[in-house]
Amino acid sequence: QDKRESLYVLSGWASKFFKDEMWTTEMGQVIGLHYFKERGYREDIIKKFELGYSPDNWTALVDAATKAGFHPDYLKEIGLAIERDDKSLYDRFRGRVMFPIHNLTGRVIGFGGRTLKTDKKVPKYVNSPESDIYHKSDVLYGLNFAKKAIMEEDNCYLVEGYADVISTHQAGVENVVSSSGTSLTTAQIRLIARFTKNVTILYDGDEAGIKASLRGTDMLLEEGLNVKILLFPDGNDPDSYVKNFGSSAFKAYIKENQQDFIFFKTRILLRDSNNDPIKRAEVIRDVVESIALIPDEIKVSVFIRECSNLLDIEERILLSELNKIRISKS
Ligand code: ATP
Ligand code: MN
Ligand code: MN
Ligand code: MN
Repeated sequence: QDKRESLYVLSGWASKFFKDEMWTTEMGQVIGLHYFKERGYREDIIKKFELGYSPDNWTALVDAATKAGFHPDYLKEIGLAIERDDKSLYDRFRGRVMFPIHNLTGRVIGFGGRTLKTDKKVPKYVNSPESDIYHKSDVLYGLNFAKKAIMEEDNCYLVEGYADVISTHQAGVENVVSSSGTSLTTAQIRLIARFTKNVTILYDGDEAGIKASLRGTDMLLEEGLNVKILLFPDGNDPDSYVKNFGSSAFKAYIKENQQDFIFFKTRILLRDSNNDPIKRAEVIRDVVESIALIPDEIKVSVFIRECSNLLDIEERILLSELNKIRISKS
């Protein structure tokens, strides 16, 4: 299709614009490149992920794109420019470090832009809106760089943010993708399932991260994936863990601390139930509900047996709960 091809070309051009701004202008180097270096990113990694900088100016990209002959409608369509009431256009990304989002074949389809300000009122990330070439729910950040390693390792690490993907790559762990802060979709899960059936969730070690993992994981189980999980200590995320403790400590940590998601969920819920018998009954139901999603009967029976130990409850009670859930769903 002609229009989509034009949008791809424009995105690629914009990505180059942000890169050139960062590498060749004074402001870009002092602000943008400096920011990434402060974060500990190596130059080869900055180049691999095509990171860039958007000048702190209302029309830098709009002006350059217009000069290069791109139609304003396309700039709007792809969300690089926003239209004012008087129909004039201004740049969406201003004074931010830029993370291009690639599709599976490596073409740029959108951007995430991170503020350099610490002001909490400024949104930390601004992202490209949906467009004809960028459907958020079908995209996993980093998959184009990760797919080979995912197949080789037969495992995919799932992280929350752009920075996590980049830092783990730099640490030598390349089978990593990010849902970029949104909850996982079935389309994203099927995308992973093309390359591996094994997923390990590496979400942020905060309350939000735990919540997101409990929320997003039922879908992974339903799609038949084996799900492991690991949390980082003291509010760390994979990126900050690498920065604080180094690459080898990171690799050791993820190797040693993965646990099966069903057991993780059981333990977290048990911990929160404080031995209250009514809450315990809810935990049992909640855990069996997750087990009931797993399509493979052999795995189901293994989990029922192990959870009967963890929950200290007879297997046949869990099995009758399982049947109740299945009947109510059929
Ligand atoms: P950093 O390490 O640069 O501070 P992060 O990736 O750790 O960023 P989180 O706050 O953990 O940031 O958020 C995870 C992801 O959620 C981000 O990478 C980004 O994709 C998305 N996100 C965060 N804040 C926003 C926002 N204000 N608007 C839209 N998306 C956001
Ligand atoms: Mn977080
Ligand atoms: Mn984070
Ligand atoms: Mn972070």
